[in-house]
Amino acid sequence: MSQILIIYTGGTIGMMSDPKTKVLRPINFEQIMENVPELEKLNCKIMVHSFEQIIDSSNMNPEIWSELAHLIKDNYDHVDGFVILHGSDTMAFTASALSFMLENLAKPVIFTGSQLPISAIRTDAKENLMTSIEIAKAKKHERSRVPEVCIYFDYKLFRGNRAFKYNSSKFEAFRSPNYPILAESGVHLKFSINDIRQPIDAPFTVHRDLVSDVAVLKLYPGISPKVVETILNADVRGIVMETFGAGNTTTDKWFTDLLKNAINSGKVILDISQCKVGTVELGRYETSKELKDMGVANGYDMTYEAAITKMMYLLGQYREPLMIKELLETDLRGELTVS
Ligand code: ASP
Repeated sequence: MSQILIIYTGGTIGMMSDPKTKVLRPINFEQIMENVPELEKLNCKIMVHSFEQIIDSSNMNPEIWSELAHLIKDNYDHVDGFVILHGSDTMAFTASALSFMLENLAKPVIFTGSQLPISAIRTDAKENLMTSIEIAKAKKHERSRVPEVCIYFDYKLFRGNRAFKYNSSKFEAFRSPNYPILAESGVHLKFSINDIRQPIDAPFTVHRDLVSDVAVLKLYPGISPKVVETILNADVRGIVMETFGAGNTTTDKWFTDLLKNAINSGKVILDISQCKVGTVELGRYETSKELKDMGVANGYDMTYEAAITKMMYLLGQYREPLMIKELLETDLRGELTVS
């Protein structure tokens, strides 16, 4: 019989409306179980680890990611897969972070949650939870069908580091425009075999040291030297720069000089686009050629969530800026497509 570990961190899935204030507050896992008697009927052994402090995912942080990675490591040999119940607001950050922290993963780690609490009549939580468990235990020839960190929501399975929350009111909360979905649930569970990463024959390794010394420089026409300077001078080692279109920025000398100074002082600058679809192409336009020449890292088609957490992961692993730049531009866990 398959064994699945459910890790409960919080989120709307396990919230209840306070009868007086009508504010949504987290409930404990036993109360969740009461709402899903179907769990008993699943042909698998479910184990549960509930975090002591159940949180709204807006309170998620790298210490909890590290705890999650530790829990997965501790239970890795005893279970067939993991289902992590998590609020949808920052789910894509946690899934991206875990994808980098868990190297050579050969078992499914499926994040899910819901837009309506599990106790609500029209809830999306039951389907999300039940199908996530089905996916976590799905095997072919004794091997997990999806040995990846994923997000399952509204009948679709996404690669975790390719997805982002794009809608706060529809059940279809996530999208992954730069990478195909890994599975779709309908009458049958259909896996997109060619899009799923297969594990290599190497030991499963967990990296728990993330460094969150990261700043974000989101460009807009009219951004002032004072603002850019303040961000680039922040006491951080990595900067994620959200640029225009295919990775373009202003070519004003004050701006490129500030970037060069930051790089010369040992900071790593990663260029990702404000566009949600498509890729950064450094050097395609005159407005990005200089960025390439000065050593800005090309983020290709990475999501904002993947860019931030990949930077945190690499800053935790390496000191040498050139090494970090090179790895930022490398596909480590299926998070980017080099074009
Ligand atoms: N605020 C909630 C959270 O992220 C929203 C959700 O769960 O969908 O925890």
